[in-house]
Amino acid sequence: MKITKLETFIVPPRWLFLKIETDEGLFGWGEPVVEGRAATVKAAVEEFSDYLIGKDPMRIEDHWQTMYRAGFYRGGPITMSAIAGIDQALWDIKGKYYNAPVSELMGGACRDSIRVYSWVGGDRPSDVGKAAKEKADAGFTAIKMNGTEELQYIDSYKKIDEVIERIAAVREAVGDDFGIGIDFHGRVHKPMAKILAKELEPFRPMFIEEPVLPENNEALREVARATNIPIATGERMFSRWDFKKLLEDGYVDIIQPDLSHAGGITECKKIFAMAEAYDVAVAPHCPLGPIALASCLQVDATSHNAVIQEQSLGIHYNQGSDLLDYLNDPQVFEYKDGYVDMLKKPGLGVSINEEFVRKQAEIGHNWKNPVWRHKDGSIAEW
Ligand SMILES: [Mg+2]
Repeated sequence: MKITKLETFIVPPRWLFLKIETDEGLFGWGEPVVEGRAATVKAAVEEFSDYLIGKDPMRIEDHWQTMYRAGFYRGGPITMSAIAGIDQALWDIKGKYYNAPVSELMGGACRDSIRVYSWVGGDRPSDVGKAAKEKADAGFTAIKMNGTEELQYIDSYKKIDEVIERIAAVREAVGDDFGIGIDFHGRVHKPMAKILAKELEPFRPMFIEEPVLPENNEALREVARATNIPIATGERMFSRWDFKKLLEDGYVDIIQPDLSHAGGITECKKIFAMAEAYDVAVAPHCPLGPIALASCLQVDATSHNAVIQEQSLGIHYNQGSDLLDYLNDPQVFEYKDGYVDMLKKPGLGVSINEEFVRKQAEIGHNWKNPVWRHKDGSIAEW
């Protein structure tokens, strides 16, 4: 079997899909995207196509190693997201070839389902108590929300109080036995992260996420000293080599690699396994589309330390085009009592509605994240 074609589709709300075709009629889908840089990742995928066309799609590990190592420069969000989507599509082909879900080819599932969580509150969290209650009523057992809006290195206690009020409203609305993930979104710098982490403790969150930017991960030591809340991070880390020091340092409790950013199924399976050896849990990042989510679930299925899965149904980014719209078989992502079943169909386990993809690609998108500034005019982390 030989790869004959790589075709990309920029589709709303902010995704990039990839279809890889072969000379035997088998094809696979991938989602090579980093949010806000879809066109750049598309270009990177096209650069890799020079190498891939004519190659045997079954040699996934060799293609991964070649794409990673043979370009001399490596790593980072663009290259690793391009590799990720290609890797997903190759696994989809392999699974279809053997008529087995990808998880079956990686040793088989060690769980039947996984807990999922849902987003509430948007970029600027408001009315989160009501939103969280709606998710609880819809059967979810956990939500995630942004903790703060813009926050300066040293900011006011009024803003801390506002965060506390919001989390208190959520806890009151959903009761004690409900998971609350609080995403600091890299918006918070070390001095305020320490204060927030300590003040949030009474509300017993499931985790705090990206309490500081990943380039400041050494500051997690100080944050961990201030609180017993589990610390999560990793959506902006792209390979085993990025995660190596984080795991060695020992201040992280949950890693959140993104299956569409961190080298795909091949690399994330290895990252999850590294974390397991440090007794660290995994909650894969996935505010993206159905191919990314299917890829997450295939690796979750085979990973003992995967504890909960992010998913984007109803997320604020998806207005107009949502998670299930591109599927012929949306029932594969049916959430029951806050859990989703492992995918059992061949390949990634989802059937993409190609006709709809082509129609939506005519609309495309140019999604960029908002640019925020502090009151003094300086740039703020979003
Ligand atoms: Mg996050």
